[in-house]
This record gives sequence, C-alpha cells and structure tokens, in this order.
Amino acid sequence: MQREQLEFDVLFVGAGPANLAGAIHLKKLAQQKGQEIEVAIIEKAASVGAHSLSGAVLDPRALRELMPDFREKGCPIEETDLRDAVFYLTAERQVRLPYVPPYMHNEGCFVISLSKFCAWLGTIAEELGVNVFPGFAGVEALYDESGRRVTGVRTGDKGVNKEGKRKSNFEPGVDLLAKVTVFGEGPKGSLIREVGKRLGLFDGQMPQVFETAVKEVIEIPAASRFLSSPYTVLHTFGYPLGLNTKGGGFLYRMKENRVSLGLVVGLDYEDAMLEPYQAFLRFKKHPLIADIIRGGKVLQQGAKTLAAGGWYTMPRLAVDGAVFVGDSASLLNVQRLKGIHTAMKSGMLAAEAILAALARGDGRAADLESYRARLDGSWIQSELYAARNFGQALSRRGLAKFVALGAQFVSGGRGLVDPMKIRDDAGSLTPGHLAPSAPVADLDGRLYVDKLTGVYLSGTQHEEDQPCHLLIPDPNLCVTRCWNTFRSPCTRFCPGQVYEMDTTEKGAPRLKLNPSNCLHCKTCEIKDPFKNIIWTCPEGGGGPGYSIV
Ligand code: SF4
Repeated sequence: MQREQLEFDVLFVGAGPANLAGAIHLKKLAQQKGQEIEVAIIEKAASVGAHSLSGAVLDPRALRELMPDFREKGCPIEETDLRDAVFYLTAERQVRLPYVPPYMHNEGCFVISLSKFCAWLGTIAEELGVNVFPGFAGVEALYDESGRRVTGVRTGDKGVNKEGKRKSNFEPGVDLLAKVTVFGEGPKGSLIREVGKRLGLFDGQMPQVFETAVKEVIEIPAASRFLSSPYTVLHTFGYPLGLNTKGGGFLYRMKENRVSLGLVVGLDYEDAMLEPYQAFLRFKKHPLIADIIRGGKVLQQGAKTLAAGGWYTMPRLAVDGAVFVGDSASLLNVQRLKGIHTAMKSGMLAAEAILAALARGDGRAADLESYRARLDGSWIQSELYAARNFGQALSRRGLAKFVALGAQFVSGGRGLVDPMKIRDDAGSLTPGHLAPSAPVADLDGRLYVDKLTGVYLSGTQHEEDQPCHLLIPDPNLCVTRCWNTFRSPCTRFCPGQVYEMDTTEKGAPRLKLNPSNCLHCKTCEIKDPFKNIIWTCPEGGGGPGYSIV
C-alpha cells in the first residue's frame, strides 16, 4: 500500500501535558535562536484534552518556567486557595489527622481540570506554529534499516471494518517521519511497549507499576457547607480499601459549585474480587463524602491509570531518534500525588536536549542523552529521588507498611533498605474466596451512577464497525484457568464494563467484549493476571470525550 509520508524535525506522540509543554518550549527556544523548526503533535483523541484526566492539583512550578504570563494567557484554573485536610475513614466515621505531612501540603498549587488545561496548552502550541493533529492514533513506531533507530510513527488506518476489510471511507494511515520522536503517550503506552521490547528500554529497571483511578466532576448545591469550608482539598485513606490495599480518595473544590471526586486504587492489590468502581461508589456513600455531595449531580465521569513506580522504574530516556517523557518515563511523584508538573518539566528538558542535539546532528542517542543529564540536574531529580521508596513502602502490608513509611520519612527517602523492592502488579492477585461482594445499591442515576451511565457521562464514542482493539491471544485461557482461579477479574477491574462473562447454551462460561465502551484507561493490560490482554489503539478520534474532568 502506498502511504503518504510527512516529514518534521520533531514529532510529539500524544498531546498530554509533557508533550504540549515540550512542543511549546521547543518552538519558543527555536524562535529565540532564530531557527526554523517543523514540529508536530499527534493525539488519538478527537480533540486535544479529550483523553486527559487527572485529579488534579497542579504544582505550577513548571508552568511558571514555561509561561510566566500564564494567567494573562487565560490558563483555566479552578481554585487557587488550597488548604488541605487528610482523613482516615472507617466504614461509618472519619478522623481528621492533626498533622498533614509536608509533601501533601498544596498551598501555592491550583486545582485544575486536566482536560481543559491540555486543550488550552494545545491552542498556545498552535499559536506558536506547532502542527497539532487530533484524531490520529500512532499505531506503530518506524525504524531505519538497522531496526535500531526510531524514524517516526505510522498512524492507524481509518475505515476498516470488523473483519479487517476496507470500507468505502477507507483512508490509509500516514507515515510521520522525524529526526526526533518524543513519546508522551501517558501511562502504559502501546508504542513504548513495543519500542521498549525492541530497544531494551526497561532492562535492569524495577517493574513498571500503576494505580487506577475513577473520577467524577459533580455539581453540588450552592448551599453545600463544603463550599464555605476552610478546607478545599481533602484526601482520605482507609475505607473502602482498607490499609492493605494501596490507594485513597480525594475531593477538590472547583469553580461553579463543582467538586472533583475520585478514588485511586494501587494495581498491586491481591483480592481478585475487588472492583475499583464499586469501591468508588462505597467511597461516595461514606458519610464524609455523602454529606458534601448530597443533592448533587454527576456532570462527567472517567477513569485512567497513572504510573506509580517512580525513580527506580524510570526507563532509558533516550535512544537513537527518540526520547520518552512524562508518565511514559514513569516521572510521576506518587508521594505528592502529582505528575503534571514533572511531566511538563520533562517535556521542556527534552526540548532543550533535542534542540542541542539537532544543532550537532540528526538526533543520535549520544546527543539526546543530555536529556537525562538535564533531568538529573533539575528539580525533578530532587523531588523523585526523595520519594524513591515511598510507593514501595505504601505497598507493604500491615505493620510493615508503617515501619517502612516511617523509616523512609525520617531518612529522607532512604528507608531501611535502598532500593526497596517493588511488587509487580500483574502477579499480585491471590486465589481466594470466589464470591464478589454485593454491589452498591440505590443508584439513582443522577448522583450515584452505574458503570454504563458512567461510560455515557465520559462522552466515550467509537466507530462500531472496526476491528476489536482488545487482543486476547488465548481466549480459551479466559474461560478455563482465569475463570476457575479468579472468576474473571477483568469483569471487575474494568471501569467501562467492556468485559462480561456470559454462558453458552450448555452453561459453560463465555467471555463477551464491548470494546466500544473502552475508556482507554489501560487497567486491563496491567492487571490481567495472565497477561492475556493486549490493548491496541482503536481508530483515531474514538474514546472518551472529556471536557471538564
Ligand atoms: Fe480500561 Fe481496558 Fe476496560 Fe478499556 S477495556 S476501559 S482500557 S480496563
């Protein structure tokens, strides 16, 4: 097939905060030096920001460095007066901690909607002359004849039916070629998975680990006491996850009587019966939260994973022709529950390294390596290194968790053992009781919604007649070992009700897929205990339509 080829100096794959900040910084630096540079960003969502979801409390450090006049430029900020409270929850009660750990203080930070923030950054990038292409999914990395140098990305074909045949609207994908490709696909990117295997990006590193979050933006009554409470940022731990499962809840005040509410669950959990979405509903029904949101209405819902491994899981950051930024490079600070600022800074540091590399040549790894050196000399290093054992300590069970957390706290991140081993997500499920708990009752479809209503509220849409983007290499395994051992945990950990177990006429279990519900959160590829789910990009433009989360 003849494919069109487009050439750029630098191609950014994914329009998240890392790549948008990187592209903006690169264009500005080039303009300051009087250099012409062709820069493009592709994004699989139908519009920039439509697949971006986070809490989100933004530490504006990187934003200030990128754009000191961000307020004048109309940066969408929801809340600036941030005061924190941390609660331990039991099933019926809450205890506010008298002490908020320093790393959880958010004074000087902003509550934002990441989808709005990315859409805004996208317009700034376009004003600077960046070619922004939403609706184009990168489906394959391209290499030179040696097979070791990345030369760009192929976008997915459009107009292919379920059987893989061309429809009348068929459009072949385009080969986007660049001297340097910047992968900022977010957590568990499908391109970095393949590039990583081929070029050994993750060799010698601890396993990549993740958390998954379900989040809503809720409009609450203007009379809600929370709107005049001194606290604008609440964090919780304990119920409904307990102390042995990593994770917790958050509630942030936004503009226009809105709150951002979510529950994060570490994907190294053991109980195969755990259902993050049901845990989120239980969290919402806890008296602390229920009192705040009573009388409210869910405006938007979504789900996403986040890369929670930190410093010791960071892959190689540069290869011939490519660099890796943001969550793709595991740069989230799990201790501070923040990754937007580190993602943005990594994009900016990558931009500086790329410009220097292009001045010396055409993007060889030896030239791009200065990105890692810049990162090691930046505040990203001091933040992430100080938190290098935090996620591991949080993963410990029982008393060991508190000993490990205390040790790394008093020792400035070192802890009792350095580095502390990370528990892999995929192998963590343990066969145990095989009966799920009763689902949360009394869903009113307005404030408390089921998964399918949540999918509707996420604005998710896919072309129905296209090949299934969820690959199951061994379907038989699903209905034998996985069903017998874990009762198909995909039917529980997926927040989009994509996986359902049905029965055949003879009563045997049968897996049914609803790929058009997919929220692109990637939980399934991470948590499947048999690594029998491979997430690939569906046709560009499909997926969630986030606009306020
Ligand atoms: Fe998330 Fe996978 Fe379910 Fe899609 S199919 S919503 S990526 S868990």
